[in-house]
Amino acid sequence: CGIVGVLGNHEVSPTIVEGLKRLEYRGYDSAGIATVNAAGHLDRRRAVGKLVNLSDMLVHDPLPGHSGIGHTRWATHGAPNTANAHPHRAGPVAVVHNGIIENFQSLRADLAEKGFGFESDTDTETVAMLVQSQMAEGKTPEQAVRATLARLEGAFALLFLFDGERDLMIAARKGSPLAIGHGDGEMYVGSDAIALAPLTDRITYLEEGDWAVITRAGATIYDASNKHANREMRQVRLDA
Ligand code: GLU
Repeated sequence: CGIVGVLGNHEVSPTIVEGLKRLEYRGYDSAGIATVNAAGHLDRRRAVGKLVNLSDMLVHDPLPGHSGIGHTRWATHGAPNTANAHPHRAGPVAVVHNGIIENFQSLRADLAEKGFGFESDTDTETVAMLVQSQMAEGKTPEQAVRATLARLEGAFALLFLFDGERDLMIAARKGSPLAIGHGDGEMYVGSDAIALAPLTDRITYLEEGDWAVITRAGATIYDASNKHANREMRQVRLDA
C-alpha cells in the first residue's frame, strides 16, 4: 500500500518509518523495513498492526544501514500476519510491493516445480523468488529484475534491495504510482511524493511501464521496452 526507499548517508530506518507515517492515511495492516548494513548484509524487521509496533521493535532490535526499503501493507493475498508482511525476501533480494500480481499462481507453480518452498501466502513472494532464481543463473540484479518484470501481469509498484549492494535500489511501476526523489548525494523512492516531502522537493515521476536503477549518483530510467527514458525532474511543492 505504501512504499518508501532511501539510499542515504545516515541510518535510514528512522527516515523510512517517518516516510511510511506520511502514508498512514491510506490505511494498512502491517509494516516492515529491510536494510543493507555497512558490511553489506541484507536484513529485515516486520510487525503486524500500527507503525509504532515496528518502531518499538526497532528500538529493541535495531536495523542499521544507510540503504533501505519500507512498506505498509494492505493485504490482498494472504492474511495480515508477520509472515505475509513485506519486505519479502528470497536469498539475495528483498522486495516491497503495492498492488497485485495477477498471474502469481502460475508463477508459483513453476517455482514449486523447481523446488522453491514458500514462507508466505502472498503474490509478492513469487516476485522475490523469480529474481532470486534469475540471479542464481548468474544474472546481475539489474538483469534479473528485467527478466522478472517481463513475466509479471497485473497492476503493481515494486522496489528491490539486494544483499551485498549498499548503493542500489531497483524500482518498477506498472499501474501503481512511484516517485523518485533526488537529494544531495542521496536518493529516495516513494509510492506518493508526499512521503518524501521532508527530504526533497526534486521529484521524477516514473511513467507507466518504467523501471529504474537507482544509486546515490542518480537514477537510470528504462521504459517498458527497456530503452533509456528521459523523465523530467520537477520541483514539486509538497506541504511538509
Ligand atoms: N498484494 C500484496 C499483498 O497482499 C501487496 C498489497 C499492498 O498493496 O499493500 O501482500
